[in-house]
Amino acid sequence: MTLIDRYAVFGSPIKHSKSPRIHKIFAEQTGQALEYGAQEVPAGQFPAAVAAFFAGGGKGLNCTIPLKELAWVYADIKTERARISKAVNTLTLQADGSILGDNTDGIGLVTDLMRNHSVTLAGSKILILGAGGASRGIIAPVLEQSVHSIVIANRTIDKAIDLAAEFQKKGSITGCGFDDLKNRQFDLIINATSTSLSGQLPPLPEALLAKNGVCYDLAYSNEPTVFVRWGLGNKALKSLDGLGMLVEQAAEAFFIWRGIRPKTRPVIELLNAERM
Ligand code: NDP
Repeated sequence: MTLIDRYAVFGSPIKHSKSPRIHKIFAEQTGQALEYGAQEVPAGQFPAAVAAFFAGGGKGLNCTIPLKELAWVYADIKTERARISKAVNTLTLQADGSILGDNTDGIGLVTDLMRNHSVTLAGSKILILGAGGASRGIIAPVLEQSVHSIVIANRTIDKAIDLAAEFQKKGSITGCGFDDLKNRQFDLIINATSTSLSGQLPPLPEALLAKNGVCYDLAYSNEPTVFVRWGLGNKALKSLDGLGMLVEQAAEAFFIWRGIRPKTRPVIELLNAERM
């Protein structure tokens, strides 16, 4: 009897996750036989749930809020990008039984910005709002695109300063508070705070976005997020949300597991059409 390969996303809350749908479409598109489920896993149950999943024949897992740091701790081996970001969103069972941890969030964002939206990162002055797990995951892949500089601004200022210090060897990056943003301008502003999820916005000064600048909210929802609306109100050339990043990070995980790159554009178009 041939058992179908099993994958899943663990998180809490997980009910509204789009990942099972995205991976089902990828599997159909590439002719891969696999199952992909979603399981509600609170942080306290994470190690036992992961062990049970792999012991039961599971091949790979995605981990989302609030499990990415726990997944980083759980992984036996980590890729370079996971090691740097200190967060893991993709766990893979290796042939020798060990578990490999990777982080595909950063490459997902960069691919969405550059390939799907033709945003130029090289030479750009970039502001990242927030210094949490998502921010940590995107800094190195963004810095690698020959950007002019990155400023991280965070409510808890010390976290921004410490995070910037960790990446200083990789490029020009500094940390500060929101008050320090007065009289500064950026070509790209990335919202990596979780404020959009509660309909809020960090306190942002006027004229923060340069002419023809771009705004990108890592969060996404059926309606434009508060930050996407802020970008539009500040004459952004483009004001985007994180749906494309979600699909691109999933495609990278699918590639790690199956060795095939699915086409992401039709999936993004489908999910975009559904929220209109
Ligand atoms: P974390 O909880 O790790 O970090 C939250 C960040 O938001 C912190 O910097 C925190 O500041 C800041 N913050 C929270 N509330 C406020 C507030 N009221 N005012 C100002 N700042 C605030 O979350 P993550 O980094 O994991 O996730 C951030 C966002 O990215 C979420 O919306 C998540 O959904 C999204 N995301 C999207 C992905 C995609 O594929 N599209 C992938 C990964 C994440 P402080 O340090 O001061 O507490």
